[in-house]
Amino acid sequence: MSTSGTDADAALDRNCPIIDGRREFQRVSARTSDVGGISVARLLPHRQRRLIGAWCFLDHAGPANFDDGQSGLIVGPHPHTCLQTFTWMIAGEVLHRDSLGCEQIIRPGQVNLMTAGHGISHIEETVPGCNLLHAAQLWIALPHAERFIAPRFDHYPELPEFGLGKLTATLLVGEYAGFGAPTLRFSPLIAMDLQWRGAGQNALELRPDFEYGILPLEGGGLHLDGSALAVDELAYLGQERDSVRLDYSGGGRALLIGGEPLDAEITIWWNFVAHSKADIEQAQDDWNAADKRFGEITAARGRRLQPPEIPWRRDR
Ligand code: MN
Repeated sequence: MSTSGTDADAALDRNCPIIDGRREFQRVSARTSDVGGISVARLLPHRQRRLIGAWCFLDHAGPANFDDGQSGLIVGPHPHTCLQTFTWMIAGEVLHRDSLGCEQIIRPGQVNLMTAGHGISHIEETVPGCNLLHAAQLWIALPHAERFIAPRFDHYPELPEFGLGKLTATLLVGEYAGFGAPTLRFSPLIAMDLQWRGAGQNALELRPDFEYGILPLEGGGLHLDGSALAVDELAYLGQERDSVRLDYSGGGRALLIGGEPLDAEITIWWNFVAHSKADIEQAQDDWNAADKRFGEITAARGRRLQPPEIPWRRDR
């Protein structure tokens, strides 16, 4: 068991130690959380790792099967600021509806991207009759210059798919191996889904200026530089690497995320990201006052979410 001081140091260090001539990776284990009635594995933020590039939040939901009569995921109206919510759907169907009036069902193989900027609210609900859910939902922090941009919603039904050795790669955002994803981004970053059926080995090329993480999402048999990595264990690879060796067998899937380290200090509180605590306080007051900043959503199946009291205010 490490002390909190050690964790804090580890959470800031971007260069994983070199042991016996090999650069190690940091292992971050998931904690379980409940989102809209679904148990999720939360990997970011974590006391051992706050950010990977601009990726500041990572939930792995499912795979889950709902029995007849269970409604699946029901997340009621809630706001966001200064971030992009990024949903990668693996199984099941989820309806997104937001305060701009956008309504979109997301299906397997697709990405939903909601750019919150100055403020937006939305709901997410399993489509009636659907009894499956397997997805990753991430947040991308917006850079300081874009923190108050106008909100928007984008849906990406098709993304570049290509072979990397015996892996099938789907590029969700960013560039890789000469391919480019259409996904709107505001800082240099990448997300890529990697699937395998059967045994193989690849050296996966990396950019030394990016920091990276790899999270197995299903199946098994994945080794990074010779070390086994299980589902819901996040490997933080740090910066200053030009490749990582992947060995795999059986069948499985993993998510690679990475990016240039964020050059700004951000605060995450509840569903808000901000570049200052004052901006968090303003967002929370606006949501609690039902200010038009976050619009309105009618006919939601879930209740409107209420934030807990801001801890640093309570202590004031
Ligand atoms: Mn949300």
